[in-house]
Amino acid sequence: MPEVRVSHLFKKFGNVNVLNDIDFTINEGEFFTLLGPSGCGKSTTLNCIAGLEQPTAGSIAVGGTPFVDTERGIYVPTEERNLGMVFQSYALWPQMTVSKNLAMPLSIRRASRGDKAERIHDALDKVGLSHLKDRYPHELSGGQQQRVALARALVYSPSVLLLDEPLSNLDAKLREQARAWLKRLQEDLGITTVYVTHDQDEALSLSDRIAVMFEGHMAQIGTPKEIYERPATAHVAAFVGSCN
Ligand code: ADP
Ligand code: MG
Repeated sequence: MPEVRVSHLFKKFGNVNVLNDIDFTINEGEFFTLLGPSGCGKSTTLNCIAGLEQPTAGSIAVGGTPFVDTERGIYVPTEERNLGMVFQSYALWPQMTVSKNLAMPLSIRRASRGDKAERIHDALDKVGLSHLKDRYPHELSGGQQQRVALARALVYSPSVLLLDEPLSNLDAKLREQARAWLKRLQEDLGITTVYVTHDQDEALSLSDRIAVMFEGHMAQIGTPKEIYERPATAHVAAFVGSCN
C-alpha cells in the first residue's frame, strides 16, 4: 500500500480550476517532488494534503487512512493528520529560543516533560544543531533557521514530511549546502517526503521521483532520469531542459 495516495483531486478558487484531476501515489520512504512553474498548483496540492485547503473533489489517504474523501464526506482536520510541514517563510517564534520553538508543537500535543526534552534533543541532533539550542532565531544564519524549522517539523515524529520551497529564501551558496544536508537527512531518516519546488536542478538532484505539473494538470511522473531523458510532452522537455 502506498504511503500517500492522491486520487482525482480537483480544486476551484471561485470559478477558476486550479487543480484538474491530480493523481499520484507515493511509496513509503520516498522523496517525491512536485515540480512546475509558479502558479501551476504545487502549493495548492500540498495544502490539500496538509489540510490547509479543502479540495473541491477527490480523495487523499496517508498510510491507508482517508484524510479527505469528498464522495464519502470525510475530512480530517489538519491537527489530526500528524504531518510535519515546512514552508518557504519558515517563521520561527522570534522571542523563543531554539528549544522553546521545538517545545511548542509538543506542548500543543500534550507531550510529557521528559518525553519533550528527549524529542527536542533528538530532533536537533538530526539536523546537527544541538549546540545551538539556547540561541534565539536572530542569532542564527538563514540556513540554520531553516534547519530549526525542519527540526520543529520532525519533533513529533510525523508520518510524512511536507516541504514547500523550503530553500528558496536562502542565497545560492547556502541553498547548495542545504540541499546536501537535506538529501543526507532524508536518507538517514527514510521519512516519506513531499517536496515542492519550481527549481529543476533541485528536483533532479534530490528526488526519488518527480511529478511535473502545468496549469493545474499532471504532465508526467517519473524518476529524475526518466523525466530528464524521456520527457513525455514538449512542455516537460522545455521546462526541465531549461535548467542547463
Ligand atoms: P504554485 O505553488 O505552483 O506556484 P499555487 O498552488 O500557489 O501554485 O497556485 C495555483 C493557482 O491558484 C494560481 O493561479 C494562484 O493564483 C491560485 N490560488 C492559489 N491560492 C489561491 C487562493 N487562496 N485564492 C484564489 N486563488 C488562489
Ligand atoms: Mg507555491
